[in-house]
Amino acid sequence: DVLRHRSGGPLLSQAAPGGRKGAVVVTSEELASAIAARQLIPYYQPKVDLNTGLVKGVEVLARWLHPEKGVIPPSQFIPLAESEGLIHGLTVEVADQAFAQVARWRQHGLSLSVAVNLSPLLLDSPDFVVEAAELLCRYRIPAEQVVWEITESSLAADLGTALGNLARLRLKGCGLSIDDYGTGFSSMQQLSRVPFTELKIDHSFVRGAHRREHLRVILQSALDMASKMRLVTVAEGIETAEDWTLLQGLGCVLGQGYFIARPMPGGVLPAWLKEEGARLYKHVQAVVPPS
Ligand code: C2E
Ligand code: MG
Ligand code: MG
Ligand code: MG
Repeated sequence: DVLRHRSGGPLLSQAAPGGRKGAVVVTSEELASAIAARQLIPYYQPKVDLNTGLVKGVEVLARWLHPEKGVIPPSQFIPLAESEGLIHGLTVEVADQAFAQVARWRQHGLSLSVAVNLSPLLLDSPDFVVEAAELLCRYRIPAEQVVWEITESSLAADLGTALGNLARLRLKGCGLSIDDYGTGFSSMQQLSRVPFTELKIDHSFVRGAHRREHLRVILQSALDMASKMRLVTVAEGIETAEDWTLLQGLGCVLGQGYFIARPMPGGVLPAWLKEEGARLYKHVQAVVPPS
């Protein structure tokens, strides 16, 4: 269990995909000073409408730009941040930078929704909701453009204080997304009590659906349920044109994945939109004849 990680100890994990072989070791002290020094920065992955190919928003994915160890992925510092009491500061710091970026894009006429991942630990205290509201105010971002993602596996059996805080975020106008849907054990009761606005299908279902009929049946039922509940449906891990076509055929509204784009620094996104936006539009025109 990541939350029971030894206090103060180094976090040993595997090298980043594509990175050098060997383990990257980081300590909580290093992480704390990296957060303060703004070495933790947001990358952005586009969320695309599978029917039109249009980019609707971005998901914020934290990266640690370590001066010696290179780009460290979140799997190697989020668990440490959670066990060492650093996750609150990390989230506010990354969200602050992301909202500043979104505000700059808005000034240039680029209106994108922004999704931020939330650790369940942040939902235990009311402070975060207040800070989140302050950030939206500071950068003049409409709450409707912000989505908070909570993984299905982090939904506790007893929602406790989390339910009130999720409801507060929703009442401010923000969207709430169930992330990695299919990997947790959310009950019908939780699905009906939390005012979710979006459901994100975990990439493992996208991957498996081509070969396994029963996975397609499960996917179809989840997508049907979600759309009847008026939730926006999103598929993660769209890695090929076939993935896109399959999920679109099952009625999934939005998609994210390497076929569309890898997470990228904010400065690169406008140029990517210019070049790749056209490719995605053409992709859709080629596979979906206009009706
Ligand atoms: P997530 O929220 O489910 O984000 C999706 C992950 O899948 C990202 O990994 C993304 O880079 C990766 N991904 C996107 N497209 C594809 C694809 O086509 N194929 C495959 N195989 N993977 C794809 P990343 O950036 O390493 O983040 C991992 C997880 O770390 C995230 O999963 C999220 O739960 C967590 N995380 C990231 N940033 C933050 C943060 O600021 N705060 C918190 N609490 N968690 C974060
Ligand atoms: Mg997410
Ligand atoms: Mg996810
Ligand atoms: Mg995931």
